[in-house]
Amino acid sequence: MLDNISIVLVNPSHPGNIGSTARAMKTMGLSQLCLVAPDDFPSGTATALASGADDILRNAKVCETLDEALADCQFVVGTSARVRGVSLPLVDPRSCAQSIVQEASNNKVALIFGREDSGLSNEQLRRCHLQVHIPTNEDFSSLNLGAAVQVLSYEIRMAELINKDALELPTPKAHELASMDDMERYYDHLYSVLMEIGFLDHSSHEKIMAKMRRLYGRVRPDQVELGILRGILSETQRCLASGGGTQKITE
Ligand code: SAH
Repeated sequence: MLDNISIVLVNPSHPGNIGSTARAMKTMGLSQLCLVAPDDFPSGTATALASGADDILRNAKVCETLDEALADCQFVVGTSARVRGVSLPLVDPRSCAQSIVQEASNNKVALIFGREDSGLSNEQLRRCHLQVHIPTNEDFSSLNLGAAVQVLSYEIRMAELINKDALELPTPKAHELASMDDMERYYDHLYSVLMEIGFLDHSSHEKIMAKMRRLYGRVRPDQVELGILRGILSETQRCLASGGGTQKITE
């Protein structure tokens, strides 16, 4: 499905940006790059900046005109650093990516980027069905071309993963949370130890124990964590009974 999405750079002036674009695309699983009248391509600088995504550069389609690049596409999205008075629906990257992913299941989609110094012309934007603007600082709105490709490629990847319900990041192994009964036994144990070491006295114990309950209530320890806490308390009692710590260094 992602193969139906082309990233089109219109008249890019800097070969480094072509390389960064290839890298940005490959990290996000996109592979179809199209260059319209690039100033300098192929180029060692592009290959260097691609950092291993040279297959994308090798397979890039090079066209002379934007119309040639868009000829077999059914859905075209234009990108713009500025929100200009073009009568096109303007969307943010997230909803743009949703539309792109939806369209790409049946259609060929082009996402077009403008030249570094001038962006897309109004004439070029008129070719688009949708315009996307990355909501940057209004006083400094223009991203580097490769960075703009990265942001939009990332959103496309996220939209695709969410669509496939495949957004599964490894999560740490979860243990069952401690039960109310475990917690009550822990509070009893904690209370005894805090009394034994003289931290609690009869005037303060209610307030402090209530605060401890609030603290552990926020944390909601699991059974393994509670086992460690119980172990610390038991060890504290063992040290008290034997009259000191095991690690005490004596001269
Ligand atoms: N000087 C141009 C900016 C060109 S930046 C201007 O002011 O319009 C080169 C390209 O990067 C833009 O044509 C667009 O494709 C992309 N780009 C940069 N910043 C962007 C932004 N905030 N939102 C969407 N695309 C952006």
